[in-house]
Amino acid sequence: PAGNCAQWWIALFDTAVILGFGILAMFVLRSRRVRFASVSISLLCLLGYLTTLYMIGPKQLYWGYPALVVAFYLLKPEEAVAATGFCLLAMVPILATQVDVFAIATVSITMVLTSVFAYGFAALTRNQRRQLIDLATCDPLTGTGNRRALTQKINEVIAKNQRTAAPASLIILDLDHFKSINDEYGHGVGDQILVRLAEVINLRIRVTDSLYRIGGEEFVIVVDGQDIERASRLAEQLRTLVEANELAPERDVTISLGVAELQSGESGENWLRRADDALYEAKSGGRLDSCRM
Ligand code: GH3
Ligand code: MG
Ligand code: MG
Repeated sequence: PAGNCAQWWIALFDTAVILGFGILAMFVLRSRRVRFASVSISLLCLLGYLTTLYMIGPKQLYWGYPALVVAFYLLKPEEAVAATGFCLLAMVPILATQVDVFAIATVSITMVLTSVFAYGFAALTRNQRRQLIDLATCDPLTGTGNRRALTQKINEVIAKNQRTAAPASLIILDLDHFKSINDEYGHGVGDQILVRLAEVINLRIRVTDSLYRIGGEEFVIVVDGQDIERASRLAEQLRTLVEANELAPERDVTISLGVAELQSGESGENWLRRADDALYEAKSGGRLDSCRM
């Protein structure tokens, strides 16, 4: 049993660990830096566990189980394997000198089993999370982002633009007379035209540009880093490209486009609305021109 002085050290250490958790909780609440907190909490748990194991002895072994589980839930899989592997290795001196062979076997097997199960559940949860994000942000027909993804992207671009004062533009485009194309060829062909249109656009735009389908036959391209001149040139190129691509049999498929550059201090809704106004003007001006605002 630890002496009186050692008891004080242990109490001091426990207090420090609890304070550490409290500070981390406040930090995450304020800064929303979840990743930093995840890494810190995992390290605090594992290192705190190892430290008390060496200060107090084998009766602390039980605390190892929650510490392992925490690491698998909060860290990336490969990081968790490395951290818990290190933790298990660091326990070897205590196990080898202070407990009997039977206890060594029991602790090793149960800790490894706990790690394997925690890894499995963490991997499953991570996969499901990824699938949910896909379902929530992807348009199932064309594979482009949906309106929710666009809203996210616009917010990101606006936040970045406020810091760097870099330009950014939106191109909104709408298929002309799509209803009559549907009526003429059927909804299935209409769907194929939407898919092909998304492919044609995705092949032409840069990796920094992103395409979203925001309504039936309406798409938005976020042209990050480009002012209205360059974005309008891209819009014009896309218009001729779509016309040249013969998306429907024996009939020209055309699009109309509107372009708007982000103004400083402007909200996302306002930016999109200005692009939409430009599209409306293009439509009323004969459905072919791309219009700027
Ligand atoms: P405008 O030139 O003014 O844009 O005329 P429009 O016919 O393209 O526009 P309108 O808004 O009147 O009609 C849009 C049509 O788009 C109506 C609907 O049948 C069609 N549409 C919407 N979503 C889909 C879809 O997912 N698949 C197919 N095939 N058609 C769709
Ligand atoms: Mg249309
Ligand atoms: Mg429309």
